[in-house]
Formats: sequence, structure tokens, C-alpha cells
Amino acid sequence: MRLFDAPPYTDWLAWWTAFWIIFSGLAVGLGPDNDTDSLPNWLDGLLAAAFFGAALGLAPAWVRLRFRQFRVSRRRADKRHTMHPTVPDRPEFSAPITSARHDQSPSTQASFVVRESPQPRKSSAVPVPAFGREDEQFRPTPTDVLDVRPLALSSVLTAARNGYPFPAARAIRRLQLAGDRITQYEAAIETGEALTLTFAITAVAWLRFVSASTSALAELERAFRQQGISQGHWLAVLQQVNQQVKTHGQPFDGSAEALRLAKGGSGLLHDLKLLLQERNLSAHGGRPRNHIQAGSRLLDLTPSLEDAVTRAAPLADADWIFVESSSFGRDGLFHINALKVMGDHPEFERIEFRSSHPLVDRDLYFASTSGYINLTPYAVMRYCNRCKESELCYADRVDERKGVVLKSFANGHEIFDPQLAADLTSPFDGPGAATTG
Ligand SMILES: [Zn+2]
Repeated sequence: MRLFDAPPYTDWLAWWTAFWIIFSGLAVGLGPDNDTDSLPNWLDGLLAAAFFGAALGLAPAWVRLRFRQFRVSRRRADKRHTMHPTVPDRPEFSAPITSARHDQSPSTQASFVVRESPQPRKSSAVPVPAFGREDEQFRPTPTDVLDVRPLALSSVLTAARNGYPFPAARAIRRLQLAGDRITQYEAAIETGEALTLTFAITAVAWLRFVSASTSALAELERAFRQQGISQGHWLAVLQQVNQQVKTHGQPFDGSAEALRLAKGGSGLLHDLKLLLQERNLSAHGGRPRNHIQAGSRLLDLTPSLEDAVTRAAPLADADWIFVESSSFGRDGLFHINALKVMGDHPEFERIEFRSSHPLVDRDLYFASTSGYINLTPYAVMRYCNRCKESELCYADRVDERKGVVLKSFANGHEIFDPQLAADLTSPFDGPGAATTG
């Protein structure tokens, strides 16, 4: 930045300075000769011009320059701050979520799943001002565009990695570990997809459990039999979940609020839609071709991404579990051994609890507001021949000969399961569909 605006004739302060130089020079240089000093008049004039020009012209210009520099540095700091909003107070993330829910003392009643009463939730919305666009002067420099740290160190993302169901948490982990902007861009697209699928699969299992029917659900069932499911199908189902809230309550604590559209149409659904649009753009020939393009697309995408992750926070309360075994005890309860499919670590924590209802061995469930609800056939754990280990998969489509085509969340490997086909295309009322009674 310079002392005067360029070109100088557009800057009133440049004119002001010039005026003082000329005026004081002429006034003193051409004024009456003063006998008390020994200098000639023209030298007096020159000195006066220099003095008044500096004091009344250059000094204010310097002050103005410093003020402008200060303002720019503050705006940059603000911008950086809005890119890394701090996590709103959510004690749920750190508190042991299972403790309140699974009472393991044998003396307690047979009632299963003691859910905390729904507490009024503070809106977890992070205001995301549109920064950096209104003023050309503050366009991101190439260093900002290429910087992987804002996403790698984002506290919003780190909290979600630790607390969300595995598919979403795993995708966010990849995003944070990405070493360059192209990898990070692809991981951001995958994170949008994983977040949508995790939320929607949970909601769809619940919709089937409460026997709700929506047009998006019917479309989902049709797509399973035909071309397969896309991220758009899942999002469409999510957009209709709140129609059922009045009749059936909500899938899990906080989900109805998360799916509500906020002022001006903002909210989780809006963010997920933006992420879907970016995915579609990328899939249909609009992939960024280099790190700078990927970086600048990420700068635009990051607010929606962080916002979506923040607003999906109720997922941290909808524990996904994988039942390893269930046995009937002398206390008249089922003793369930399960893995908690939460967080980004693929070695899941083991939990044990009692249930008044049996749960199906090797099925996935999620903790709804009224008990565990089976996620089969939308999400299942299956052995993958390529990875040589069990993988968490989601149903993608039904193949007439091979059965349900499952896709692994982690790497898209396809696994076929002929037995699930009937579940997927007919209303879901199999044994152990839910634990509530
Ligand atoms: Zn695999």
C-alpha cells in the first residue's frame, strides 16, 4: 500500500499536500524580507514549503496508511476466524454417551433403553458470513488457496470425527489427513456424501419402523430395483422426514430440529444440497484440474461443509451398534454384546447391555428416541473378499441375479447379498426390527 492513492490526482490528500507546499513556499518566499534572519528569502520559502508539506500533507497521509493497514489485517483475521468456527458447547461429544442409556445393574427394571428426556437444544448453527467476495482487495492469495491446514485443523471436523457414526467420521478423517488440495477436495465431496447417507439411512430405517410412507421413500424403493440409489435419492428422503414428526415423533434426539429449514432457507438440508451440487458438478466433467482450482473451490465449499457437519451434531447421539451376540438370561432379559460403530477408528469399542427384546446377531442398529432400530438392509456389516475383513456397507441397488449390491462406505467395494433382496424391496417388518414394545 502507498502513501497516496494511485493515480495521485484522485486522492484529495495529494491535492491537500500540494496546496500546502505551493502556498507556504510562495507566501514565505515572496513575502516581505525579514531582517532578523540571515537566510535569503527564496531559501526561507523552500524550507517553509518542505516543513508545511511534511507536517500538513505527508504526516496525515502516513497516519491514514497505518490505519488502512490495520483495517486490512483485522479483516484478514476475521476472515480466518469465520473459516474455523469454534465448536459450540456440546458436552455430548465428550461425555460417555452410553452410560445413561444402558443401565447395567441387574436390579433395575426390564425396561430397555432409558433415553434422557429431550433437552432444549441450542441451535448449533454457525453463522457463516459471505466473506471475501464483496471486496476485490481481499481476494485469497495463492498461499491461502493451497493451504490444507484450515480443514486439517478444523475443530468442528475433529469433534465430529470422534463422535459421529463410523461412515461419516471415517470420511471426515480422510478429509483431515489429506496432504494436498486435490485429495482434500475429493475427500470433501465424499464427506458430503457420507454425511447425507449416514443421516438418511438412519432416518429411512426409522421411517420404515414407524410404517410411514412418503413419496421419496417410494422413489427410493423403485430406484433400488432399477438404476440404483444416488446421493440425491437419500437427500430427498431426508427432506421429507419432518413431515412425519407430528405423527411419529423424531428418529433421534435433535434430528427434527437439525432437519428444519432456518431463516432464509439455511440449515443442514441446504448445506447438504450445496455439497450434492458440487459433487454433481465434479462428477460431470467439472473436476478441478490442479491444486489451485481445487483450493479455490474448497474455499467456497468450506463454510457449507463445516456448517453441515456442525448441524448434523445430533448424529453423535444416534449411536450405531453392531450386535455380536445376544443371550437370554435368568433375569428375563437379553444380554447383548455389541460393538459401538462410532468414531473414525475402525476397531470399534465393545459394549454390553440388557434389553427386554432380542436383537438380531450380526445386524446393525441405531439408538432411536424409543429404542434400538435395525438398520438392515440399508446398512450392514459384511465380509469383503478384497479387504479380507468385515466392512460397513450400504445397499446400492438390487441385481436380478446377484441379489442386493452392497457398497462399502470406506472404499466403494461391491459385495453381493442375495438374501437381502426381499427385505429391500418389500415393507420391512422382519424379526427384531426394533427393540421397543
Ligand atoms: Zn473391501
